[in-house]
Amino acid sequence: MTKQIISHKAEQFTESVIREMTRQAHLYGAINLSQGFPDFPAPEELKLAACDAIMADINQYAITWGAKNFRDAIAEKSSWYLGMEVDPEREITVTCGSTEAMLASLMAIVNPGDEVIVFEPFYENYGPDAILSGATPRYVTLHAPDWSFDTDELQSAFNDNTKAIIINTPNNPTGKVFSRSELEEIAALCHRWNVIAITDEIYEHILFNDKKHIAMATLDGMRDRTITINGLSKTYSVTGWRVGYTIAPPEITLAIRKVHDFLTVGAAAPLQEAGARALRLPRSYYDQLQADYSTRRDRILPVLKEAGFKCFDPDGAYYVMTDITAFGYVDDVEFARFLVKEIGVAVVPGSSFYHEPQLGRAQVRFTFCKRDETLRAAEERLQKLASLMG
Ligand code: GLN
Repeated sequence: MTKQIISHKAEQFTESVIREMTRQAHLYGAINLSQGFPDFPAPEELKLAACDAIMADINQYAITWGAKNFRDAIAEKSSWYLGMEVDPEREITVTCGSTEAMLASLMAIVNPGDEVIVFEPFYENYGPDAILSGATPRYVTLHAPDWSFDTDELQSAFNDNTKAIIINTPNNPTGKVFSRSELEEIAALCHRWNVIAITDEIYEHILFNDKKHIAMATLDGMRDRTITINGLSKTYSVTGWRVGYTIAPPEITLAIRKVHDFLTVGAAAPLQEAGARALRLPRSYYDQLQADYSTRRDRILPVLKEAGFKCFDPDGAYYVMTDITAFGYVDDVEFARFLVKEIGVAVVPGSSFYHEPQLGRAQVRFTFCKRDETLRAAEERLQKLASLMG
């Protein structure tokens, strides 16, 4: 008897293109502006805190839903930064990165037949997340150049089967920061259709042009129907620590904690201790982080424009989505291949952010969470591109 060994779920998606581009960057010795991780060091204080925790013998399992000290620190920071009061005993689950937070959240609430609304372009992971959790995704377009959504298109995505809507603000890959009125519009639909908002707020501190981050859970009546996802990776430049968390009402948190417990048991105990230190850094830390990212953003945008890319200038997060029409390539994948092999700069093909590759064929994404010398090296190489174009 022939047997189908591989699961239908696993067959429905490919390996991550973002992670694959990092491997290609290594292969061709290219400057890696694809996967969003900093190439500069994490704050000294946090590295020491992690070492201290290990030396203090915090090396066994933490409580499965998160070390108390870390959960307390999450509640403190959510209070001053988001204006959100959180019960660390009943509303927080610490996970292995916000990646696990998203999957555990979906697995905690999705039933067969449930639909989940996703704004498109979207962070690559949400596609496989939907498949793994058994949700049927419904896409709502964010329209370039300002990545706004159309009210009618949003409204028509909601129906009786809608279980949740995923909102990533500040947004990867577009750099959009959802405004209060946009969030209110979404919130009104969540109320009307009894839908949960799952908000990925991992870039909450990376904002430009005086934009402010607004947490969906702080909007009227949304606290009871929002799962807020966050983590240490981006704000503290420790993407490899894999420490994230969810904030959700108690009943939903109970379900997330169960899923999380059996998926991973828990996030690294000593890194949760260091995380408690991170979340209690003074407010000046965040101002500096934002200023540094502003400098990097302003550094890369003219370089890309000069090289012939049409840029969608970001208001937040650390990516620039670009239009590559001017280069005359058949599609984004071919162009990205050329760029990594011949020019020596790795980017992410736009199609990885769309459910139909065709929709992203004229776009590639750059990240700028890199040292000045990395950006300078990229600049030199991209100049070659301009001269090749004649
Ligand atoms: N969020 C980052 C990106 O989009 C990387 C995430 C990851 O690879 N886990 O590039």
